[in-house]
Amino acid sequence: MRAVAVESEAAILYRIEPIDPHAHLLQVTLKVLRPSSDGQRVALPAWIPGSYMIREFARHIIRIEAHCGTKPVRLDKLDKHSWSAAPVDGVLEISYTVYAWDLSVRAAHLDASHAFINASSVCLRVIGQEGLPCSVELAPPPAAIARNWRVATTLPEAGAARHGFGRYRASDYDELIDHPIEMGTFSLAHFEAGGARHEIAITGRSDVDLKRLSRDLSAVCAVQSVLFEPKTRRAPFDRYLFLTTAVGDGYGGLEHRNSTALLCNRNDLPWHGMDSVSDGYRSFLGLASHEYFHAWHVKRIKPAAFVPYELDREVHTRLLWIFEGFTSYYDDLMLARAGVISHSDYLKLLGKTISNVLRGPGRHVQSIADSSFDAWTKYYRQDENSPNSVVSYYAKGALVALAIDLSIRARTKGVSSLDDVMRLMWTRLGRSFYSQRGHAGDAQAGLPEDGFEPMLREATGLAMKAQLTRWVDGTDDLPLARLFAPLGIDMTMTATDPSPSLGVRLAQRGSELQVTSALTGGAAQRAGVSSGDVLVACDGIRVNEAMLKAMLARRTPGDRVRLHAFRRDELLEFEATLDAPIQTEVNLALKPGANPLRDAWLNVRASDRGARRAKSGRA
Ligand code: ZN
Repeated sequence: MRAVAVESEAAILYRIEPIDPHAHLLQVTLKVLRPSSDGQRVALPAWIPGSYMIREFARHIIRIEAHCGTKPVRLDKLDKHSWSAAPVDGVLEISYTVYAWDLSVRAAHLDASHAFINASSVCLRVIGQEGLPCSVELAPPPAAIARNWRVATTLPEAGAARHGFGRYRASDYDELIDHPIEMGTFSLAHFEAGGARHEIAITGRSDVDLKRLSRDLSAVCAVQSVLFEPKTRRAPFDRYLFLTTAVGDGYGGLEHRNSTALLCNRNDLPWHGMDSVSDGYRSFLGLASHEYFHAWHVKRIKPAAFVPYELDREVHTRLLWIFEGFTSYYDDLMLARAGVISHSDYLKLLGKTISNVLRGPGRHVQSIADSSFDAWTKYYRQDENSPNSVVSYYAKGALVALAIDLSIRARTKGVSSLDDVMRLMWTRLGRSFYSQRGHAGDAQAGLPEDGFEPMLREATGLAMKAQLTRWVDGTDDLPLARLFAPLGIDMTMTATDPSPSLGVRLAQRGSELQVTSALTGGAAQRAGVSSGDVLVACDGIRVNEAMLKAMLARRTPGDRVRLHAFRRDELLEFEATLDAPIQTEVNLALKPGANPLRDAWLNVRASDRGARRAKSGRA
């Protein structure tokens, strides 16, 4: 009955069928009940929200045709991703085949073991009708393959039948493309947190301990709900899904409003009998925490530039440092506050982030506001010169979040924190984003480009314009050691490698030692060594990575070394004067004794401080 109702409500109907899993082909039928009278245009997005790069998904449409009833309809291709159908009197039906063999969280992937589908790379947008409700019918693959296949998605059901195959609905195109779909024989677990049902679906063979994973994730999810809604402690959805694909070597995550798609190494998942938190598992939890945080921050609190998403081309905002950087700050902090990692482990992770930022000369060239704006062509399209020219709005954005948080805590003597700013943005912009918003295009929705500083001032009473300008638009290093001091945390720096520095990044490729980047102002660059050069000898001795390292360890800063390298097959000789070791290894140490600012930051209640210490000690 509900299916019938939806059929009549929905003006746009999709049917997706994994028609040939061995050839990785999805067959899609799109019915437009009321096509535009002067010819209907359809288009596939050029990018998927959350991943800021033009991907031109339409290049994987390998066949397309249109009909009205039994009559063929002329379909003209207008540009790389849009078509126009001739005017018809009746229902316009467009059928097309999509090649789905992208093993990432961003597109679609199909073989005989599973299908993973982002509608943004599979469902054509009906231009002019993006705001209308649509329905999607998910068909199973051929019977020989379909045995035991089922569906996992947070798309609302509208008559889905056995194993989840059947009909789903979306109130508009924006909702349709915000619920990835998995079909296959995944393992499934569920838990409650923040008043919502959470599910974890894991595709790919693994020996995952689902109980352990559920327990840890539920703690992480709970603290995030408490951060944004301390009174109700409720998540902004009734249901949330972690769609996880475990592979030999892969890493990635993409946020959606009620779910996330994650790609991880199977060895990063917890296994039965794992008693501590392995580095890989800590990284997986950090990834899950990051994408989950996005359900509040970027899927509901959004940059105004993303309301609505313009899907044909790049959408520029100087605020990704807030949306990705703050999320990167809170992802690991939430693990510590949830008690799934110890505070000393958290400080180690934070130290690593600081080190990573300090290792890139690009931090003195590009600001995080500029890095946000140019994400499409710089951060997402890195090359050999990126270490010299690009700063990560994720990593430095996380450090700016830390700097803001520590400043607020110290200046208000612990009364306020960045948490208050997040809560104000949440109540002002996020909480009712999907429920009260008019259709796409509401001018009130989203954080304006200059909207953060007033929000911070209102939430904390502090004027921080000068600092924000320096940290966000400037390229100097952040005064973190000074900001850590009031929390009883000592920040010290040492050299990761005590050998004199050549100022290069290297990769051993088979028997070749290649310079992947010559760092700005470094000994190698001054001598004329370039990225792409293949180093063959140092002081007349053949080198690989280990040998070069051993030789540098025996030199002192100021020593000269003779280098031989091939460039375009021509042998070149260089004389480099070695620099002092670079101090980028950051250590964060807790000073003994209680510190209320620090305890509030890591969310340690006085009553359970002893218990938590004991727990950390075991790890
Ligand atoms: Zn993110």
